[in-house]
Amino acid sequence: MNAPALSPVSPEALYQKLSPLDEVGYGMEACERYSREIAEILRLKDERKAIILAHNYQRPEIFEVADFIGDSLELARKAKEVRDAEIIVFCGVHFMAETAKVMNPGRMVLIPDLRAGCSLADAVTAEALADRKAELKEIYPDLKVVSYVNCTADVKALSDACCTSANAVKVVNAIDSENILFLPDQNLANYVQGQTSKRIISWDGNCYVHHQITPAEVNRVKSSIPGIKVIAHPECRKDVLTLADAVLSTSAMVRYARESEADKFLIVTECGLSDRLLMEVPEKHFYKTCKLCRFMKMITLSGTLDSLRNLRYEIELPEDVRDGARRALDRMLELSA
Ligand code: SF4
Repeated sequence: MNAPALSPVSPEALYQKLSPLDEVGYGMEACERYSREIAEILRLKDERKAIILAHNYQRPEIFEVADFIGDSLELARKAKEVRDAEIIVFCGVHFMAETAKVMNPGRMVLIPDLRAGCSLADAVTAEALADRKAELKEIYPDLKVVSYVNCTADVKALSDACCTSANAVKVVNAIDSENILFLPDQNLANYVQGQTSKRIISWDGNCYVHHQITPAEVNRVKSSIPGIKVIAHPECRKDVLTLADAVLSTSAMVRYARESEADKFLIVTECGLSDRLLMEVPEKHFYKTCKLCRFMKMITLSGTLDSLRNLRYEIELPEDVRDGARRALDRMLELSA
């Protein structure tokens, strides 16, 4: 989503907007600080010819300085299109910032905090993938590797195609093989297996945020709020997905909530998305599972300000890794077109 034209915001206006999202404590004091930081970020963004891309799971105050907010696929496409800006500040996790660099190598790509990793991306290394691929090729000579974008650039470079949660089924069905090594998310792999006749061999990884959500939590909300629609992310476990009215990527969740005739939704994914919905669709009611991604939340306004001020931390990738990852990402865009 393109953010509305950005301008500094007063502490009072910020307090009005953010204080209903009270579980993280948006007091007046915090809003005064945010207001000063937002003004300085917008000034520096202009001076440095920078653009800020933010993932749906970011903190609500980050949305105040973002030029574009979206899911992994939308952010990859947006990064590719950046022409006028010289710098991309990526408010998301490390593998996403790497993807921005792969899609637009001519731009300086910065991430405000190098600790912003991902449990899924950490579940697979290029070495482990190379070994497993060689082993499986002996059994399935036509084997193809489809990697969910939540992995490092060197893992992408060893893959035949990437996919996102929005296009995983489409990519798997379109790729020319009956045997697919799908990585790193076992839950997304299980979901895809339910939608295709191809053989899916999954990797043993998961997103620690989605994997901890249980059917009991979802059932508790369903039974206490009649008529509530449950929308779940495919990174959730299978026993949770079977309780959902719709299984969607984060941006498809936003569209679904806007367009549905229902007015009450349980959003079964990381909490940042519910905050975005509460701010953008105030006429409807959103309930959340209260699961925060500690990696996503490492990105703060003060870190973003520091990143722009001191031009850190720059994402750099060897050319062969960049080229290999680009091939797998382009293949995804082709197969899912
Ligand atoms: S929510 Fe899960 S998949 Fe997304 S960055 Fe956090 S750990 Fe990784």
